[in-house]
Amino acid sequence: MPSETLLTIDDIDAMAYPAQALDDPSPVVAELVAAVEQGRVADDETAAHAYLLSAEITERAGDLAGALAYAEKAATVPGEDGLSRACYAELLVKSGREEEGRAVFEALRPELLEDPHACSYVGEALEACGLATVAQEWLAEAARTLAERTAKGDDDFTAVDTLFAVLTERHRIREDLELPHDDLDGLYHEMEAVADAPELQGQALLYWPEAELAQVLQRWPERADIYGLDWLDHRTNVERTLAGWSSSGVIHIALIPGSMAGLLAFATAEELDPADPETHADYAEQVGETTDGVEWPPQRNAPCWCASGVKYKKCCLPRSRA
Ligand SMILES: [Zn+2]
Ligand SMILES: [Zn+2]
Repeated sequence: MPSETLLTIDDIDAMAYPAQALDDPSPVVAELVAAVEQGRVADDETAAHAYLLSAEITERAGDLAGALAYAEKAATVPGEDGLSRACYAELLVKSGREEEGRAVFEALRPELLEDPHACSYVGEALEACGLATVAQEWLAEAARTLAERTAKGDDDFTAVDTLFAVLTERHRIREDLELPHDDLDGLYHEMEAVADAPELQGQALLYWPEAELAQVLQRWPERADIYGLDWLDHRTNVERTLAGWSSSGVIHIALIPGSMAGLLAFATAEELDPADPETHADYAEQVGETTDGVEWPPQRNAPCWCASGVKYKKCCLPRSRA
């Protein structure tokens, strides 16, 4: 099958959109499920997404058993990143199968320490099935573990991001529960104040995709002093720089791809010498102001930012420690 006909996550969202206006959304769900079962979706992630939306739409239409069946399918898609299992666990509890649901939640619990996104989907799912108290206890324990790790400074840099995410989610849930502030809520407000400091957020780093780096280093071999000797070295430098930013409290970090053509056009427009390291720095700044880039760090199970096709945790994440 030609790959351009395969459905992406955006296509699936567009297919699901009309469901909200329908009294009986089952034709939309049937279409979503057929797309997966007929192999018309781009990848496993899209398949899981289609099943999750089917579960959500079906639950909203009042069919809990049907929703549970779709969530179970989403949760068993290979490479599923946790969100689907949280949704499945939530629906198990809502269906009166609390013990099974809690077991699925329990299996997700270690993710709270690893993935800055996990606290939101685990927290919200627990809350949605009446287990908000469990959520805030788990998040408290995760926060204490992460705070110890960041204090010792011996963990990888995702700990700071993850700690802030966990504290934010816990603070939100405790407000809903009308619980008074405790020490961890205090820590949340401290970190929030730091994160609000303009110099600590929205920083972006320019990197050169593999083919662009080859061109840059071929033309200016001396720029290996900033970018590294080769693609491997370049990615190690990038990861170390960003890990450094992250451990000094910077949040909302983005990676922005540079290009030789872009650099040369910039140098021409500004009448600058393209070989000058200052020009490179100015170009990086200009690109950073005009491009959104990609969020860093990626989720651990997401594909790496370097486009290797390998998961981040198996690709560039370990490079900062190499
Ligand atoms: Zn507060
Ligand atoms: Zn990589």
